[in-house]
Amino acid sequence: MTTGATPARSTVAYFSMEICLEQAIPTYSGGLGVLAGDTLRSAADLGVPLIAVTLLHRKGYFVQHLDAYGQQSESPVHWKPEAELERLDARGTVTIEGRAVQVAVWKYEVTGVRGHVVPVFLLDTMVDGNGEWDRTLTDCLYGGDEHYRLCQEIVLGMGGASVLQALGYDNGVIYHLNEGHSALLTLQLLERQLDSRQHFELNDADLEAVRQRCVFTTHTPVPAGHDKFPLTMVRTVLGDERVALLRVCGGIHEGMLNMTHLSLHLTRFVNGVAMRHREVSRGMFPQSPINSITNGVHAVTWASPAFAALYDKRVPEWRRDNLYLRYSVSIPLEEIRDAHAESKRAILAEVFRRTGTKLDPSVMTIGFARRATPYKRADLIFSDVDRLATIARKIGKMQIIFGGKAHPRDGGGKELIKRIFAADERLQGLVEVVYLENYEMALAQQLVAGVDLWLNNPMKPLEASGTSGMKAAINGVPSFSVLDGWWVEGHVEGVTGWSIGGPEAEGDPSRDALDLYIKLERVILPLFYGLPFAYAEVMRSAIALNGSFFNTQRMVRQYVHNAYFPEHLPSDVRIEETALL
Ligand SMILES: *Cc1c(COP(=O)(O)O)cnc(C)c1O
Repeated sequence: MTTGATPARSTVAYFSMEICLEQAIPTYSGGLGVLAGDTLRSAADLGVPLIAVTLLHRKGYFVQHLDAYGQQSESPVHWKPEAELERLDARGTVTIEGRAVQVAVWKYEVTGVRGHVVPVFLLDTMVDGNGEWDRTLTDCLYGGDEHYRLCQEIVLGMGGASVLQALGYDNGVIYHLNEGHSALLTLQLLERQLDSRQHFELNDADLEAVRQRCVFTTHTPVPAGHDKFPLTMVRTVLGDERVALLRVCGGIHEGMLNMTHLSLHLTRFVNGVAMRHREVSRGMFPQSPINSITNGVHAVTWASPAFAALYDKRVPEWRRDNLYLRYSVSIPLEEIRDAHAESKRAILAEVFRRTGTKLDPSVMTIGFARRATPYKRADLIFSDVDRLATIARKIGKMQIIFGGKAHPRDGGGKELIKRIFAADERLQGLVEVVYLENYEMALAQQLVAGVDLWLNNPMKPLEASGTSGMKAAINGVPSFSVLDGWWVEGHVEGVTGWSIGGPEAEGDPSRDALDLYIKLERVILPLFYGLPFAYAEVMRSAIALNGSFFNTQRMVRQYVHNAYFPEHLPSDVRIEETALL
């Protein structure tokens, strides 16, 4: 519930390098940004007093072009912040290499089902008076070199804290670091705590005061994925005094500024994004108590029009309270099949519109879309194309729809896309393969809902959570996935979908491909073609068991009660717990 014009005293400030607000605002690259957007949408639905901070990313995350061989090239996205956002008068400042850099701010509003608003502040250094190069700092998401990245993270963390103060958010704010990119905001808070004292006067009470105001979500299951910067660079950019302060508070690790270590030392609550991810993170950081809050997706955003209409008819409470999706067990299987057929028609029409390829609505359609990067192994299903062709001939046809951008500098990811194009050549129509350009929010909405099976086979343990399988589940699409990330919790064999490989945390790549073929051949395709109503039962269970749990409504409630306000809700905070009034 909104409490009027002035911001509530208790406020959660959610910091994220990327946020997927809507299709027309290209300020995200993938899973992290989509999760951030879904978090805000659910926080708005529940009336959580939350505000968000991110960067404007004027050049957007690029437009992807694929030639006939799958070779990717990129161009900037043209979008107009002034058409989508409101420019505010408030300004913040940061100091970079001794220069004062002005940080301007734009506002977007996420409005929940009951009208509660979550404001999002997008930071912008394209300001008159800033130097030429400083003006580009909020242009490119994950662009530029290490030095650019460090300066960007200063704008996000320190500039964000400075802008919030200018906007009147200070006392009573809990800061949520969504991944370590914004960790330097803790430095800003420490400096405020020190006031005019020197870094060597910093004491435990100061550190604890900052810690009490910050929570941290880590998303990365391998040490190589954690952001770090060489000290010489940090010294040049931030100055000796700040490096000394970072050292005192534990942000320097093995001679580098390590954003994860900084975050771990200066927050009072830390969580991984799935049960398995917590175990993996505890292995990496045995000194830190790491909790777990499994990711989710915003159900209303990701349900296809056909399924949304079906839920409105059969479990109408689902919009306000996603737990009601559990009652999908009572939806007749024919209605599940009809809603799915409609979703499938929509994605096949989109495939035709984009590529001119006519896919067959009666054929088992497999979806695979995510960031094109080697560990996701998009081409695992093509490890043995002859075998795949034989299965198609013997048991039933398949068609596979791929999507996903490779980061402009991810050579391995770009090769992966080319290998998929090459496999299509070799399969000669026995298994139809299409690769769709520009896998973004709107395409994802159609794709996760319209295929018959959602395939996911990353190298373990590299998938912290994964969320596209959760979007599929909301639409009754079963997952076929390695047991990593969220699927360790969401998988009930033959009930919500199927596993690839065994339950151990480290995978066996050769066995994964073998298992994939065996299960397609002996279990999944025979069920799909031979027992369509049994297949629809798996679809229905995916909704009832997984749709009802792997949503951001449940997730945000867990953040509220475990991370933001673990003791009790402050008197000025009222969270909607249920739709039952
Ligand atoms: C959901 C989503 C992702 C993340 O999917 P994962 O399964 O976590 O890899 C990436 N990009 C888009 C556009 C999405 O909608």
